[in-house]
This record gives sequence, structure tokens and C-alpha cells, in this order.
Amino acid sequence: MKKEIIKQLIDELYINHTLSREKLLNVLENLDEENKQYLHTKANSVRLQHYDDRVYMRGLIEFTNYCKCDCIYCGIRLSNKEADRYRLSKEEIMHCCEVGYQLGYRTYVLQGGEDPYYTDDRVVDIVRSIKEKFKDVAVTLSIGEKSYASYKKYYDAGADRYLLRHETNSRALYERLHPNMSYDNRIQCLRDLKDIGFQVGAGFMVGLPNQTNADYVKDLLFLKELQPHMVGIGPFIPQSDTPLANENSGTVDKTCVLLSLVRLLLPEVLLPATTALGSLNSKGRELGLKSGANVVMPNLSPTNVREKYALYDGKICTGDEAAHCRKCIENRIEKSGYHVDMSRGDHVTRGM
Ligand code: SAH
Repeated sequence: MKKEIIKQLIDELYINHTLSREKLLNVLENLDEENKQYLHTKANSVRLQHYDDRVYMRGLIEFTNYCKCDCIYCGIRLSNKEADRYRLSKEEIMHCCEVGYQLGYRTYVLQGGEDPYYTDDRVVDIVRSIKEKFKDVAVTLSIGEKSYASYKKYYDAGADRYLLRHETNSRALYERLHPNMSYDNRIQCLRDLKDIGFQVGAGFMVGLPNQTNADYVKDLLFLKELQPHMVGIGPFIPQSDTPLANENSGTVDKTCVLLSLVRLLLPEVLLPATTALGSLNSKGRELGLKSGANVVMPNLSPTNVREKYALYDGKICTGDEAAHCRKCIENRIEKSGYHVDMSRGDHVTRGM
């Protein structure tokens, strides 16, 4: 009775918030449609216990697509000569925040490639200016691997959170995907960020070429050990000007299973229904929410640069004004039976 055993494993995970490597692998390998729905229901009930039906909104500002890294899946990689590069000035970034503030956003996520133009001094100046002008907001940075000293400067300037997906916890896969980068350094960066005091987001992609269920189990157990405040999980989607252009995408289905497993392993985690999930399927983010996600990150970048931040093909919302995105996502959230929450949306252990 394999079916019954898998259901019992989901119950065990639901009660204990942990599961052995073998058991997690067993769930991933043998999940049928009925147990999948059961898993999502359990994950949703855990999110309701900890965060009620609230969905936190983060305004995403993609402020540069210059990057010195060469991640083979990513459309803004250094070697992509087709990428139409841009960077926003401090004034433009402040304007995005102003527009976001008027729309009610109280968290800004500044994301970009690893762009040497943004020295520590420039990052610090931008973070300080935002925090001085908008007193009640949280600032999240997502600008890649830096030294402990740099991270500390950003934190001291007022940055509250930092997103740095570990991408995959399988060393061999990591090294294939990231030429000239170090798996150990990425993991060290996450530990440094936690040590400094940031609310930290890790996370991984789903459906990378040759990624296996055993790899996902490594990701899950790594997250359980790291105990990040946020976890970003999105499907891999090929980008036509990268070496992975002809590979298959990850699936909505698998991404939602992994969202649910993360919700059960880390009941209080902040878990976005990602733009990549919404890009694969028009109802992808709604499915993510029903699988245990409780955050969405609508775009606040100026419309004239949106298409240029092309990490993958077919990204949604590239033509829409911030006000339109705000309304659109609100409708989707309410229709799915949840409520938009425009507050800072700190992790439950870090409320201010
Ligand atoms: N430079 C920053 C931000 C990277 S872009 C950093 O290093 O953290 C943000 C995320 O987009 C990445 O962490 C990666 O998980 C995701 N991403 C990049 N290319 C992608 C693709 N082709 N498909 C899906 N997600 C992708």
C-alpha cells in the first residue's frame, strides 16, 4: 500500500516539521495525484495557522542588468552579447519607491546583476536615502555574493533583508551551472548574512537540466538546517540567448510540490509565489499560493526597462505599469481566497 505509506509520511512531516532523507525521497518519487492534493491541503493549513489568509506584497525594482557572473541559465549573464544593458540612477530608483509608496508598498526589493558600478558606497547611499525618506519601509537587497564586510555595511546602512538563492545544493550541478563561481562561497555568503542579522532568503530552481529528486532532497534538508526567513523557489525557464536555450522548463506541478514541502519543513517561512511560476502558466502564482506560498513580488521597475531584465523567456508583466500590476495581483489573490497585506510583512519572529 504505497499510497497509504506516502500519506503517512506527509502526516509525519505535518506533525514533526522534519523528515529523513529517505522518506523525503520516497514522497517525491511516489506522489500520486491524490496525495499531491493532500500535501497541498496540509501545507495550506500550516500557512493559515501562521499567517492567516494574508499575502504580503513586495515591490520589486530591477535596477541593473549588468552582471559579471556567467550563470549558464541566466539571460543577463556576462557572455550574453544580445542583452540590452541598463542601470537605473539613484534618482530613478527613488522614483520607483515613491510610486510604490503611493500604491501602498512598504517593502522594496532591489535586485540586480552583480554590477561593479554599484560600489559599496553607492549601495549604502541608496539604502540610506530610501530608509530616510520612507520611514516605515523594509529594504531587501538581492545583488549577489559580496564579502562579509560589504554585507555588514549594507546592514548598518539600514537594509533589513537579503535574498540570495543557493540555486541548488547539489555541488556537481552547481558547478556545471556556474562557471568560475564557488559553491562553498555561495553557502558561506548565506551564513554570513544570517550572522550579521539580516532576514535572509535562500532558494532554488526547479527543473534544471539533469536535476533529480535526490537533488531536491538536498535542497530541502539544507533549508531545514539553514533556517532562512524566506525561500524563493521558481521553475527554471530557458532563455534563448543562453547555453540552455533548448532545454525544457521546469513544471508548475513540481514547483508547487516543493513549495508545499518547504512550507511543512519551515512552517513560519516567507514563501513567494514567484514571477517565474506565473510566467509558465497564467494561474501559476495562484497555484503557488494554494500550495503554501504567502508572498508575491509585483514589479515596480520602470516599464521601459522591464523587458531588458530578461532572466528567462516569456516573463510576464513586462509591459504593465506598477499601478496595473498592483490591481491585477490583488484581484488574483482575492479570487484565490486570500487577502492582500500591504504591511512590511516581516518574518513572524522579527515583527517590529
Ligand atoms: N545577482 C543576484 C540576482 C540574480 S537574478 C543574485 O545572484 O542573487 C534572481 C534569480 O533569478 C536567481 O537567483 C535565479 O534563481 C533566477 N533565475 C535566473 N535565470 C533564470 C532562469 N533562466 N529561469 C528561472 N529562474 C532564473
